Amino acid sequence: MSEGDGGAEPAARERIGVIGAGYVGLVTGVCLASMGYEVTLRDIDAAKVAALSDGQVPIYEPGLEDVMAEHASRLRYTLSLERMLDRSDIIFIAVDTPPTYSGDADLSRVMGVVDELERVGADERHILVMKSTVPVGTGQRVRAELDARGLGQVGYCSNPEFLKEGAALADFLRPDRVVIGSFEARHGDRVASLYEPLGAPIVRTTVPTAEMVKYASNAFLATKISFINEIANVCEEVGADVAVVANGMGMDSRIGSAFLRAGIGFGGSCFPKDVSALKQLAGNSGYHFQLLTSVIEVNELQKRRVIGKLKKHLGGLEGKRVALLGLAFKPETDDMREASSLVLAARLLAEGAEVCAFDPIVDSPTDRLKGVTMCASAEAAVSGADAAVLVTEWASIVGMDWGGVRSTMRSPVLIDGRNALDPLEMTRLGYVFEGIGRIPAHVEVPR
Ligand code: NAD
Repeated sequence: MSEGDGGAEPAARERIGVIGAGYVGLVTGVCLASMGYEVTLRDIDAAKVAALSDGQVPIYEPGLEDVMAEHASRLRYTLSLERMLDRSDIIFIAVDTPPTYSGDADLSRVMGVVDELERVGADERHILVMKSTVPVGTGQRVRAELDARGLGQVGYCSNPEFLKEGAALADFLRPDRVVIGSFEARHGDRVASLYEPLGAPIVRTTVPTAEMVKYASNAFLATKISFINEIANVCEEVGADVAVVANGMGMDSRIGSAFLRAGIGFGGSCFPKDVSALKQLAGNSGYHFQLLTSVIEVNELQKRRVIGKLKKHLGGLEGKRVALLGLAFKPETDDMREASSLVLAARLLAEGAEVCAFDPIVDSPTDRLKGVTMCASAEAAVSGADAAVLVTEWASIVGMDWGGVRSTMRSPVLIDGRNALDPLEMTRLGYVFEGIGRIPAHVEVPR
């Protein structure tokens, strides 16, 4: 049995449609195909649909290409909503819900799908399943719109997605839990039966509660990160080591060790926008979510603290060459949305520094990285630099020959923005080293 087989054949032969073949939609479709379901994915991006039909995966996600190829006979890609509806019973909506200028979620793609459905028509065999992360109340709004447009027979469920880019297949096929909110039990039952072969706990609830589980989960994880980052900042003031503090805290089963690594802040397509959307959602309903305001502010400031560390060692940054190692918002993805590297690069360029960068996957400078020189390797980026900053802890960068590259630098200042390197080892290799909240290497630590 391959990784994607999910353990058993589906009980009922529901046919699956997916609207939006991005990170979530594509993984959802490919994983459900690997579980034996017939899947039709619909996207509005003609280049994406053409690439997928050609067997090419337009995103970087480990393992996805292989599982997609293995189950190609059960996967169809189309630009046509009609064709997708024709071939599907349960339809996942996985369109993007980016932030608006106000910080609220932009629901225009979601509501656009409802407009299209009104035009094309759908019937009682169809259930819409919202996988996109949407503010609490969206399901009720969509339900009301469907009813008002003569689509009252179409079912609706909320089924938020919790996968992590970089580990998306395993997260989908071996989830900690599956959350399903429904207006009618019979619709929730059909969606639940899709997931039963996975053997994961299934949380059945109302639509608004399911929507809130997703926002509350992401906001809590973001809070954990900002909390440990603040502890790290205090550690720097008082001479304690946040890595050991986090380890000691994480051993407490009430706390847990996940999401306790201090660094230069969280980014990506989910945490920043979801935390801000929850804060706005609360504000719009009359509640000031004070804690989340701080979580966001701590995260913004954390990205900039690296500039202070560089200035401490280099003085002014005008004309200094700084190497950024890793650009994606985390390892094992090509996703640059809200990546800390974007803020760092912009700040460094504004200070007059020359910025050279390397990422194992992100190889073409986006508009937002204008002015940054892309290098062919981490070694090339570091060579001739006055300082290097580890921005994304790709294994290939963490494991590079740090001893060998040190002598190629103009000055050996190394800032570890992810606490992925050993301070003692780096100091021994001759670096002027700083992590985030790490104890200085000259302090003797009893072991
Ligand atoms: P994405 O931008 O990678 O993909 C969205 C896709 O939807 C794009 O391919 C776009 O062309 C397509 N699209 C837009 N309108 C469409 C329409 N009317 N019909 C068909 N296709 C349409 O976004 P993503 O990262 O996959 O995120 C999708 C949703 O899932 C968001 O709400 C996000 O918050 C949520 N989510 C994302 C992750 C993640 O790690 N990326 C994890 C959990 C939840």
